[in-house]
Amino acid sequence: MRPEVLNPLFVETSALEGVGPKMMKPLEKLGLTRVRDIAYHLPDRFVTRRPVKNLDEASEGEQIVIPLTVVEHRASRNNRGPYRVLAQDDAGNVCTLTYFGRASFTAKKLLPVGEKRWASGRLDRFGDALQIVHPDHVEKEGSASLGRLNEPVYSLSEGLTQPRVASLVEQALGRLPYLPEWIEPSQLDREAWPDWRDALHLAHKSENRSARDRLAYDELLANSLALLLVRADNRRRRGQSIIGNGQLRDKLQLPYDLTGAQSRSVREIEGDLAQEAPMLRLLQGDVGAGKTVVALMAMLIANEAGKQAALLAPTEILARQHYETLRQMAAPTGVEIALLTGRDKGRARESILMGLLDGSIDIVVGTHAIFQESVGYRDLALVVIDEQHRFGVQQRLQLASKGKAPPHTLAMTATPIPRTLTLAQYGEMDVSRLDEMPPGRQPIDTVVVSQDRLEDVIAGVARHVEGGQQAYWVCPMVRESETDDIAAAEARYALLKERFGGDVVLVHGQLRPEEKDAAMERFASGNAKLLVATTVIEVGVDVPAATLMVIEQAERFGLAQLHQLRGRVGRGSEKSVCLLLRGSALSETGRKRLALMRETQDGFRIAEEDLELRGGGELLGTRQSGDTPFRVADLEQITRLLPAAHADARLLMDRDGGLSSERGQAARILLYLFERDWGVQLLRGG
Ligand code: ADP
Ligand code: MG
Repeated sequence: MRPEVLNPLFVETSALEGVGPKMMKPLEKLGLTRVRDIAYHLPDRFVTRRPVKNLDEASEGEQIVIPLTVVEHRASRNNRGPYRVLAQDDAGNVCTLTYFGRASFTAKKLLPVGEKRWASGRLDRFGDALQIVHPDHVEKEGSASLGRLNEPVYSLSEGLTQPRVASLVEQALGRLPYLPEWIEPSQLDREAWPDWRDALHLAHKSENRSARDRLAYDELLANSLALLLVRADNRRRRGQSIIGNGQLRDKLQLPYDLTGAQSRSVREIEGDLAQEAPMLRLLQGDVGAGKTVVALMAMLIANEAGKQAALLAPTEILARQHYETLRQMAAPTGVEIALLTGRDKGRARESILMGLLDGSIDIVVGTHAIFQESVGYRDLALVVIDEQHRFGVQQRLQLASKGKAPPHTLAMTATPIPRTLTLAQYGEMDVSRLDEMPPGRQPIDTVVVSQDRLEDVIAGVARHVEGGQQAYWVCPMVRESETDDIAAAEARYALLKERFGGDVVLVHGQLRPEEKDAAMERFASGNAKLLVATTVIEVGVDVPAATLMVIEQAERFGLAQLHQLRGRVGRGSEKSVCLLLRGSALSETGRKRLALMRETQDGFRIAEEDLELRGGGELLGTRQSGDTPFRVADLEQITRLLPAAHADARLLMDRDGGLSSERGQAARILLYLFERDWGVQLLRGG
């Protein structure tokens, strides 16, 4: 169904020259599976090099291109150390070319002793010696690439090099088709943006703000359009009006009164459910604000009307926890609650599937297993999605096909998304906000500590644990590679185990689900005192007796993420503490961000100010759009360009809701290009 003109872009990367089976993995790791992805793998930054005759002309920290004669190779004694190649300039100054890991093989090949080579890279000092670590290029005299003094720097994964990626990009750019313009001509003129094809070429060539903006705008426009199409489709659909009689809700025996915000949210949901148009509502509430009970109320309304409800969780651990919590809370009502995850097999699974089909199960809690094809429902009327930012809209639509009529949807998120991003992520969903915390919460003491004081921190944790309380220990993030993160977590676990023995458990993303559960179980039951984890504990886990949280290399985490992590403590009646360990080289922004964490516990304020702190950064290099549905647009661009993109999308929809005009057709191509084509599919269906 994809427009043919886009076909060259959706060819697999393996079709490009020089991509063998060995390169597939590193490419996949970066999400570069098709030509399109390569073309959109925009440089993180550009390096500008200065050609110098000898080292006397160069200064430390400078990017240079320099002719050197290879003198000697020195492998380190153990294999893990650096591999050094000593080389000399024409004035007799020595410079070391240093390689780590597998790169030493390349060094052996590229740098024969006695030969002259041009090396480019950043000149650094290591002790008394000058060195270039992992030169970007090593070339013979007369090589073409020597002329490239201004070069893009791409993000890489293990097994890829800059020249490799550059060559793939060049090939991808060579395959770009000519596409019709989807941006309003007046807008294009006003901004003086290049057309799509030129913009991609320019963005890879130099720091070209207007090219980058245009590409970001395309992505934002595609997203807004797709969300508006979903919205329009939703308005056209007829769902089922659900009216509860209150009987089940009255049976709940909650040990507390709902807060004003909770009651208001329940009323808003109740109002939506009574409508025929399917509800599309976002329940936004900070960690610990009490979303679960609101979700339960909503599901009980469906049950009161004789219909089923499903709660979708992003992870097994969370699904299990929700299941336990809901079962306890709902016990007095007598509704039947089941848990369904990808792990359930055989008989147990069969019996749950039967229960869903014949309606004997009222509420099912689970991971995305609950919307597999094989799962059918008797009358699914409400779907609650916890932490919905992890689910694509596509999955939401898949779920929608499960009901007799499209079910009502309630999405819950603890991510305090700034307003601009809410728009990006949820389009024009209605929002209920839990802006009031349940009473009696203890503020969390947040302290920033230097990573150098690890010993003291461990001693502090020991005192805490000996005092009978529990603690979380979140491991350093090594950035980019999950495998490295896990290695770091395992190393930390080993160290802490020396001190805490059987009191400590480890949880990370590569454990088998049974192992993960067993560890969580031991911690939740109080048998283990210390839970060492990568960020898998980020969402939802609720262990009120855990009152200490240690987060290593806190500066590497997004603030929203830190806030979520910190929200794991401060849930009981005891005073809680959060220790943010910071590295020694903290930037000014980094310092401010951690100070903000110390200062406030207001998730919305943190999110807004973080956006400001990070967003104002340089044009390139702040590609931290990890919390958003975008790959091209960064936070700053989202903030600056999204309102216009959204208004533009709305205007186009008003004028040409069927996307049939010339510009409408171009917009369809845009939707496919950014894989928001579920929007187009809705168009056809409607
Ligand atoms: P979250 O919004 O993070 O999902 P939860 O639903 O897990 O929050 O609630 C956090 C804690 O607050 C739970 O232990 C829950 O029992 C408690 N809680 C929820 N609502 C109230 C309330 N109105 N008064 C007191 N405690 C509440
Ligand atoms: Mg929750």
